Amino acid sequence: MKLSEAILLGSTLRPQIKGHLFGDGRSCALGAAGEAIGAQPKDCPSSWEVIRKQWPWTQVSLFPCPACWRESGTSKVLGLITHLNDFHGWTRQCTAAWVASIEPREEEGCVEVPLDDGLAKTKKSA
Ligand SMILES: [Zn+2]
Repeated sequence: MKLSEAILLGSTLRPQIKGHLFGDGRSCALGAAGEAIGAQPKDCPSSWEVIRKQWPWTQVSLFPCPACWRESGTSKVLGLITHLNDFHGWTRQCTAAWVASIEPREEEGCVEVPLDDGLAKTKKSA
């Protein structure tokens, strides 16, 4: 499952919180994503582990904050999602839309298929 989809799905399970993956019956953007793929809301350390394992690209891909990019330089996506949730107060739906705009194409199951005429087309794998 793509991270953007997991955030959206998890956001339907409980209201939003800032500052924690889970708490007070709520979840942040990352907590929502984790819960969507089976992370247990009562176990934050292992939830972090589930999230890091499922979407390793979030720990290496660097992007400027979409809300304060002029000042912030670049950060790892994992930290930016927390930043958008906690500092900017973005809804999980908004954060998911941003994540969808920067997610690796492999997350969609797309692969590059070389063609004889030298042009490349993307083909959705089964
Ligand atoms: Zn920012």
